[in-house]
Amino acid sequence: MSLTNRILIAMAAGILFGSLLNALLHGLALPVGVRDFIEQGLIGGFFDVLGRIFIASLKLLVVPLVLVSLICGASSLGDSARMGPIALKTLGLYLATTAIAVTVALVFAGIIGPGESMDMAASATFEATPPPPLSDVLVNIFPSNPVRAMAEGEMLQIIVFALLVGYAISHAGEPGRRIAGFFRDFEAVVMKMVEILMALAPYGVFALLVKLFAQMGLGAILDLATYFFTVVAVLLLHAFVVYSLLLRSLAGLSPRKLFSKMRPVWAFAFSTASSGATLPVTLNTVERRMGVHNSVAGFTIPLGATINMDGTAIMQGVATVFIAQVYGIDLSATALVTVILTATLASVGTAAVPGVGLVTLALVLGQAGLPVEGIGLILGVDRLLDMLRTAVNVTGDAVVTLIVAKSEGQFDAEVFEQVGRQESVDPVETSPPTL
Ligand code: ASP
Repeated sequence: MSLTNRILIAMAAGILFGSLLNALLHGLALPVGVRDFIEQGLIGGFFDVLGRIFIASLKLLVVPLVLVSLICGASSLGDSARMGPIALKTLGLYLATTAIAVTVALVFAGIIGPGESMDMAASATFEATPPPPLSDVLVNIFPSNPVRAMAEGEMLQIIVFALLVGYAISHAGEPGRRIAGFFRDFEAVVMKMVEILMALAPYGVFALLVKLFAQMGLGAILDLATYFFTVVAVLLLHAFVVYSLLLRSLAGLSPRKLFSKMRPVWAFAFSTASSGATLPVTLNTVERRMGVHNSVAGFTIPLGATINMDGTAIMQGVATVFIAQVYGIDLSATALVTVILTATLASVGTAAVPGVGLVTLALVLGQAGLPVEGIGLILGVDRLLDMLRTAVNVTGDAVVTLIVAKSEGQFDAEVFEQVGRQESVDPVETSPPTL
C-alpha cells in the first residue's frame, strides 16, 4: 500500500480509536482499574510517549533542514541577482493571501452571524500577555549569535544567517564552490532523514490522534457549532477555491495535482497542529514531488512556515466577528480594516506551534476595541480548529512557492505532472533496523 494511503488510514484509525476511548471513558461506569489503564497506561502513557517522540523527531530535522536547504538555495541564486525579486514576490504574495483570507472570513462571518443568538459574554475569561514592542520584533530578526539562534530554533534568525552564508558562498570563488558542494551533499542526507521519518509516520500520526481525540471534549463543538462550522467553511473555501483560482491564474497549474500531492503534508499538519513540525515534510513534498527547485523552496517554505498563516488569520477573522456579536458590539468600517491589517500582521508574528493563533488573537481584538477575555469563549473548540487551520497554513506556503517558482523558471513541470511520485520512499532501504 502506498505511504500516503497508509498515513491517511492511520489518521482515520487514530481519530476513530481515540473517539472510542473518549466515549468509553465518558459513557460507561468502568471499573477503576480499567479506567486507570486507559487513562494513564494508554492515553497518558503509551500513545503520549509515541506521539511526543514522533514530534520530537520531526522538530529535530527542522533546523538542519532549513539551514542547509536555504544555504544551497541562496548560493545557487546568489550570483544571478534574483534573490531580491524572489524575496519581494514571496513576501508580497504571503501578505496578500493572508489579507484575502481575513477579508473572506469577515465577509462570511458577517453574513452567517455565528454569535448573534448567543449570550455567554459573562462566562468568558482570558488573560492576554502584552505583545513585545515592534522595535524588538524587528531587531530580533537579526541574529547576534547563529549558534544560539539554532539552539533556540529562532526561524527568522536562521533564515537571515543562512541567506547571508549562501550569498557569500556564491561570491567566494573556488572556496565557495567547494563548500557549496558540501552543503548540497548535506542537504541530500537530511532529505533522506525526512523520508525515513515519513515511512514511520503512520505510527506517529496514529498515536498523536488517538491521544488528542481521546482527550478532546467534542461536546464543546455543539455549544459553539455555528462558530466552529463558519471557521471550517471559510477554511475549506480558502483552501479549495481561493488557492485554486490563484494557482490557475498566476501559475497556470492544476489545483487537483497540488491537492493530491498535499495529502501527506495535510496529515502531518493536522496531527501535529504545527506548521513548524510539518516543515520538513512540506519542503520535501514541494521539492521532490512538485518539482520546485531548491533555490526557491529552500527560501519560501521556511519563511512561509514562520510568517504565512492564512488559516490562522481566517480563525481570527471569524472569532473577531463572533466575539463582537456575543458582546453586542457593532464593528465599524474602520474596525474591520484594522482587523484585516492586524490579523495579517498577527499571522506574521504567530509562531508555527500549536495554539499560538489564539494568543495573537488578543492583539487583533485589542486593536479592534473588543474585549480580549472573549477568547475564553472559543477556547473549548480551538484545538480541533488549530489542526484544520494548520493544514491550510501549510497549503498556502506550497501555493505561493509554486507561483514564485513558476514565475522564476525554477520549476520542473514534469515532476509536478507525475502521479505516484510520492512513493519515492523505498520501504526496503528506509525501514528501521530490526533490533
Ligand atoms: N498551529 C498553527 C501553526 O502552527 C498556528 C496557530 O494558528 O496557532 O501553523
